[in-house]
Amino acid sequence: MLFDPYKRRINYLRISVTDRCNLRCRYCMPEEGIPLIPHNEILTYEEILRLVHLFVAEGISKVRLTGGEPLVRKGMVEFVANLSKIEGIKDLSLTTNGILLKDFAKTLKEAGLKRVNISLDTLQKERFYQITRRDGFEQVWKGIEEALNVQLSPIKINMVAIRGMNDDEIESFAQLTFRLPLTIRYIEYMPSGNGEEWKEGRILTIKEIKARLERKAPLIPVPSDPLDGPAQRFRFEGALGEIGLIGPVSDHFCGNCNRLRLTPDGKIRTCLFSDEEIDVRQYLRNGAGDEELKERLLEALKSKPEKHQINSHQFKKCQRNMSSIGG
Ligand code: SAM
Repeated sequence: MLFDPYKRRINYLRISVTDRCNLRCRYCMPEEGIPLIPHNEILTYEEILRLVHLFVAEGISKVRLTGGEPLVRKGMVEFVANLSKIEGIKDLSLTTNGILLKDFAKTLKEAGLKRVNISLDTLQKERFYQITRRDGFEQVWKGIEEALNVQLSPIKINMVAIRGMNDDEIESFAQLTFRLPLTIRYIEYMPSGNGEEWKEGRILTIKEIKARLERKAPLIPVPSDPLDGPAQRFRFEGALGEIGLIGPVSDHFCGNCNRLRLTPDGKIRTCLFSDEEIDVRQYLRNGAGDEELKERLLEALKSKPEKHQINSHQFKKCQRNMSSIGG
């Protein structure tokens, strides 16, 4: 088992497989994109698999693939098939914007993927274009339907709630849970990314979202599972799906943080909001043995901060864009 210096048990690895993305969400990226990591600096699938084997041997049991947009990287299905063969991974999931999901859902399921989180901030076609600078709402929706068909479940829809962008859609997203077995998760707008300037006043706190939903109908708490993340879970009476509230800004859940992140260029990040990174790529490429790589992992764990500093005067927006960390 892996523990950090604050005695938190670390069992969750989020792997960003690429920094490339096929959308340009305004709050995440500028229109022209961001400088890309050169191809030769991006870990190969073989390199990632080697690291995952080591991490799993040390106590990681939950793996999520993210990006950039993970489905734009070639060879993802085969990579998922290889990952799913690693004994000890109990939960293998993917975070995607859903644009390519219709084509991949079935083969990913067959390759061993358990479930997907799909990012979708609006249910309106025109607004989708305004937010992401690309057409694609219908494609994403088809992706969601296909994920439901092949049962990549529980299927979670992640909605970043931003005042003045989509705050008038809180209730319509919740309404979906009556019709479909989807978990709608509202996520607070975080001060990261290279998109439009972040302003505190644009955050819709989960407290505010919860109060709005409760005006519609009572929210029934859902007991959480040990593999659950930081979401507070609820459901409406008679609904097929669930509601999740995630408050990285207002609800400091660092005390329960169980995560490590691996960036596309082979750096271990121990906190989404800290720029401290431990490089493993140079070790992988300089012929390091498993013991040496394991030492790097343990060294990274030692640097995991007790908590993020978003709400303190010491906070500095992180240097790396969200699209190359993976959120
Ligand atoms: N392309 C994939 C996707 O869209 O799900 C994975 C990477 S994307 C960076 C992961 C998540 O981070 C998305 O749900 C996105 O909305 C979210 N995100 C990006 N910038 C954010 C911010 N400033 N605050 C909150 N969430 C953010």
